[in-house]
Amino acid sequence: MCVSSSGNIYECGYSTTQLGSLAQIESFHAPNTNYHRFVRDRLTGVMEMCKGCMIEGQCGGGYNITQEFARATKTAKIERMCDFYHRMTQEILREQLQEAAAQELELLQTATERR
Ligand code: SF4
Repeated sequence: MCVSSSGNIYECGYSTTQLGSLAQIESFHAPNTNYHRFVRDRLTGVMEMCKGCMIEGQCGGGYNITQEFARATKTAKIERMCDFYHRMTQEILREQLQEAAAQELELLQTATERR
C-alpha cells in the first residue's frame, strides 16, 4: 500500500487506481469500497482472462500495474507476461522434480549399500 501526500491510498506508488483515503480509513475494508472490489475481483476463479490457467491460484492475474499499463497502452504485454510466468513455473517445477529425484536416488543407493 502507498499513501500519497494528499492522503489517497493506492496499491503502490505506480498505480493509478485509488483504493481509499486516510480521511475515510474507517470504511476502508467495508463491502463495496474500492479496496473491497480490488481484492474480490482478484480472487481465484474471478478474473475472466485467468480462468483455466494452470497457475491461476499462484499468479492471480500477475502484477496489477502491468494490467493497468496494458489497459492504458493497449499493448500485448499481458500475453508476453503470461507466457513468461508459464515458462518460469514449468522450469521451477522441472528443477524441483530433478532435485527430488536425485535425493530419492541417493537414498536408495545408501539403503542398498547398507544391505
Ligand atoms: S499467467 Fe496470465 S492467465 Fe495465468 S493467472 Fe497469471 S495473469 Fe492470469
